[in-house]
Parts: sequence; structure tokens; C-alpha cells
Amino acid sequence: MNVEEKKENSAERSRAVPVLWMIIPCYNEEKVLPITCEMFLDQLNSMIRAGHVDDRSRILFVNDGSSDSTWEIIQALSRRDAHFIGISQSRNRGHQNAVLAGLMEAREYCDITISIDCDGQDDISAMDRMVEEYRKGSEIVYGVRSSRKTDTWFKRATAEGFYKLLHCMGAEVVFNHADYRLVSKRVLDEFSNYQEVNLFLRGLFPMVGFKSSSVYYERNERLAGDSHYPLGKMLALAFDGITSLSIRPIRLITTLGFAVAFFSIIGVIWSVVCYFLGNTVNGWASMICIMCFLGGMQLIGLGVIGEYVGKTYLEVKHRPRYIISERTGSIYCRDHCENEKKKSYSQEREAD
Ligand code: UDP
Ligand code: MG
Repeated sequence: MNVEEKKENSAERSRAVPVLWMIIPCYNEEKVLPITCEMFLDQLNSMIRAGHVDDRSRILFVNDGSSDSTWEIIQALSRRDAHFIGISQSRNRGHQNAVLAGLMEAREYCDITISIDCDGQDDISAMDRMVEEYRKGSEIVYGVRSSRKTDTWFKRATAEGFYKLLHCMGAEVVFNHADYRLVSKRVLDEFSNYQEVNLFLRGLFPMVGFKSSSVYYERNERLAGDSHYPLGKMLALAFDGITSLSIRPIRLITTLGFAVAFFSIIGVIWSVVCYFLGNTVNGWASMICIMCFLGGMQLIGLGVIGEYVGKTYLEVKHRPRYIISERTGSIYCRDHCENEKKKSYSQEREAD
């Protein structure tokens, strides 16, 4: 078999039986992790048994600087089963950076990744359909919530408002898709060239392109522990998403500026006419209204522009987006790697 044929064969194999890495960010999740880790392992084992993914697949937990016993739980899991592995960030950097750290780590070893939250809210069994879509040729498969029946009306209204606001402001995101998605190694390799510090992954992946599809699933309630995304954080994420993906807010300010300037001209003409008619004492209230309105507009405009200047400032510094302080699991242990190498070497010799 020549080199080209060998390459083709291995590409076909990685499409038919890919090596999957699940990327699971965890921040102070000691209550929920012992429950959901079993669900992740069952899902992986069932996919391996069905021959849909390779046995070298892994479940990678990314500890995002937790202050509880999350990391100790991950370490214990990695000693128990070779499919569990973990990396730990040197401090809490937020959900998006934790997912990125996991994806960049996985890129070296796998054919596909599936990122999912560790609280069991997203239907884990939807992974079967995601892998199926990959096998049919998709490079990115978005997990989309088909309904939000289990959310309170407030969470539902704010979350759906969030997507609509993003859309109006020019940030292209898949409606009702959060961070549950399958991404192939090919896409990750291209994505690694996106070096931005302000991360909004669900808006960045559609920008990379490639063939994509969606898989619909029901969203459940958190199995244990509390949400880390209260309203304030969600608004911050929405604002981050808009300002890191689009400059439409600045354009809106410019348009508003033109509109206000137009009405100012009318105002000037009106005041000059009033002056010549001898009516200048009147109009104090309208004067105050216009001053307040313009003052407010100017401050909002400055704030939005300041946000972009701040973002530019953060980007030019090129600080690392994550720092991995520890790793745990069979794949990182030197003996294991040596054994794997020896095994594959002797297998190759046998084949020869
Ligand atoms: N998370 C994280 N770092 C943080 C906050 C959250 O890694 O600073 C993880 C968290 O452990 C979970 C996921 O991000 O796996 C989503 O968080 P959460 O479930 O609290 O958000 P919600 O589903 O309520 O929006
Ligand atoms: Mg959650």
C-alpha cells in the first residue's frame, strides 16, 4: 500500500470511527459531577460498543480554577477509568476560556470534539445523532434546544431576547444554540488561527465555515448545584458577544448622530425664528429637555465607543487565553505513552 492510499484509508477510518473527545468545563461542580460523570461514561461506552467511535476516545474535564473539591474528584475519576482525563486551569477564567483550553488540548489527539456543560442540562444522548451527522459529512454539528419547557418564563424570555438582540446587532449566531456542539479536528485546526482574547465561541464557529448541521434536543433542569449564569453575567455575555462580533452599535451611534444633527438644524431655525418674533423668554422647558437628551446620547455613545477601545486594548496585549497548571489521566502519563508506542510499533511490525 503506498503512502497516498494509506492516508486515504486513515481519513476514511477517522470519518467512520472517529476518536471523540468530550470537553466538559467544570467550575465548583462537586455536587453535580459525581452524578453526571457516570452518564458521560455510559454514553461514551455505548458509542464505543456500537462501533460509532474509537476506543481511544476520552472524556476531558476542564477544571476552571474551582475552589471546592472538583479537581480532586476529576483526579480520582482519571485513576478509576482510562477514559476519564482532566486538565486544570491555573485560575478561574470563565466558561468560554475553559472550553477553548479543552478544545485546543484535544486537537492534538482526536478526530472530533463535543463540548457540553457538566450539569446534565443538555441531553447527553443527542451525541449519537451528532456523531451520525459527522459521519454523514458535517464538520460542525450545533446542538439546538427544541424547547425551553423546563426554564422559568423569566429565563426563557431573557435567553430568547438575548439571541434576538445579538441578531439585531449583527452578531450571527445559531438561534437557541449554546455551547453544546460537535467540532471536527479540521475545523479546530483552522479555528486555532483565531487568536482573539475576547471569546464568544458560539459566534466564532459559524465564522469558520465548513459544512454544518443542527441536532435538536430538549433541555432539562440542572441535576444539582446552582447556575453560574445569573442575569448580570448573561447581559455581560450578550454585550461581549455583540462587541466582539460586530461593529453595528458604532454604526447605530453614527446614524443617531446624523438624526440628532438634522433635528438640531430644525431647532436652530426654530430658535432664530423665535428670536425675530420676540418670543425668546419662553422655551426654557424645551431647552432643558434638549440638553438632557443630548447629554444622555453623548454619554451612551462615548460608553459604547469606550467599550470597543477597551476591547482593542485587551487584544493588542496578546495575553494567554488560558494557562494549564495540571493534567491528570492515562494519556498524560509517560509510562502509558511508552506502552502505547511500543504496542503500535509491534502491531506495525506484525502487519509487515
Ligand atoms: N463554568 C466554568 N467557568 C465559570 C462558570 C461556569 O467552567 O466561570 C462551567 C460550569 O461548570 C458548567 C458550564 O460552564 O459546566 C455552564 O455553567 P452553568 O450551568 O452554571 O450555566 P447555565 O447553564 O445556568 O447558563
Ligand atoms: Mg447549566
